[in-house]
Amino acid sequence: MKLDIPFPVQEILHRFNIAGYEASVVGGCVRDSLLGLSPKDWDITTSARPEEVKLALSDLRLLETGLKHGTVTALSGGMAVEITTYRIDGTYSDNRRPDSVYFTGSLADDLSRRDFTINAMAYSEQNGLIDCFGGQEDLRQKILRCVGDPDRRFEEDALRILRGLRFCAVLGFHPDEKTAQSMITHRELLDHIAKERISTELVKLLCGQNAAQILREFPLVIGQILPEVLPMIGFEQHNPHHIYDVWEHTLHALDATPADPVLRLAILLHDSGKPHTFTSDKKGVGHFYGHGAVSVQLAEQALHRLRLDGKTIRRVSTLVRIHDMPLQPCAAWIRRRLNRMGEEDFRALLEIKRADSLAQNPAYRDRLNQIDAVLPILEQILSERQCFSLKDLDVSGNDLIALGVPPGPKVGALLTRLLDAVINGKIPNEKEALLDLAKQTLHEKHC
Ligand code: ATP
Ligand code: MG
Repeated sequence: MKLDIPFPVQEILHRFNIAGYEASVVGGCVRDSLLGLSPKDWDITTSARPEEVKLALSDLRLLETGLKHGTVTALSGGMAVEITTYRIDGTYSDNRRPDSVYFTGSLADDLSRRDFTINAMAYSEQNGLIDCFGGQEDLRQKILRCVGDPDRRFEEDALRILRGLRFCAVLGFHPDEKTAQSMITHRELLDHIAKERISTELVKLLCGQNAAQILREFPLVIGQILPEVLPMIGFEQHNPHHIYDVWEHTLHALDATPADPVLRLAILLHDSGKPHTFTSDKKGVGHFYGHGAVSVQLAEQALHRLRLDGKTIRRVSTLVRIHDMPLQPCAAWIRRRLNRMGEEDFRALLEIKRADSLAQNPAYRDRLNQIDAVLPILEQILSERQCFSLKDLDVSGNDLIALGVPPGPKVGALLTRLLDAVINGKIPNEKEALLDLAKQTLHEKHC
């Protein structure tokens, strides 16, 4: 077996070898290479101690990213390569980080501190694949298994629970029985982990090809970090539009949503307000009036708690708030929406609505026709560069001032009025027509 190691990484391995140290690529890059995927980053593990790493690579730019833990980052050929000295971790007293680390001369020791068998393989040209824990076989069988005793490993560092589910969601793997059980048992330890680290893993998990299935199998783990989802689980809708309970509907919709963080977060939380707004009419039909507004509150609460960035929170909130808004396949309406939310969010709304409809009773799939009717009109508006925002309007504030409008808020108000007329298709976006309407409006105001 031969791994296709990028040249700058080979160079670094070579430098260690000529200086008399062992060095191999390790972890995610080995896993991904064996799966035929292209690794995002390459990590090196070496017998050289941190000071020796610095000497062996003295002609490269080095960043002392985690020297205390034995990690140096080398910048070579446009790549950032993390180099870590063979290490074993000391005791863990906070379910997060080792209290101390010890350097060791043994690659096998270093591999034994790694989280999962599929992440605990190393490779070098001299020694080929070093796989002390059956990682290759687990890759073949698509099994996620802890190195050593799962209970101990999750007690040491609870983030591993979420990393594990993330690998399963992304790679289409399943945890082995003991690992799965231990993830559930130790879920409360996730409360000790920094929210930023949790949200990074959660977003990657949600964007995985198998996210819905993992959420279905581990609702309590997800509920530990996102308690907002718990009331959805098993909540029956008693409504002819639906064939699933709220949680199952959400998971089916998640499956039908493109793997984008904003879209996946929005679809996960779009109906979170339903259990809180349920009413039943005389015929026993369930309704969820105003659930969008409650879902927005819950989504904002959850995403702030998980410290997601402001733009993501704003976009998710918008999509959750209007996910139920009926679409109108009419150019003026679409231009109005584009004016309010921009192209990116409008396209995202269409994706959310498509996924939502696909997860409802197939008898009501005609809602999909609405989306299909909107799309060509949207494409036409965009390809013809039709005007839907002030910056594209064929007159400026200065043009209005030249007509006699006093500088100040009146200019903005009149521009908005002209834009409305263009968006609604009343007048073309042409200077002459716009100035005529401006004059007419000013005249009416004076009469
Ligand atoms: P990704 O594709 O996200 O980069 P990865 O497996 O490479 O996945 P990294 O965070 O880059 O993940 O870590 C590199 C390697 O370090 C892992 O493959 C694993 O061997 C080890 N590792 C990372 N985090 C942990 C952890 N919390 N506990 C034990 N080992 C870990
Ligand atoms: Mg990595």
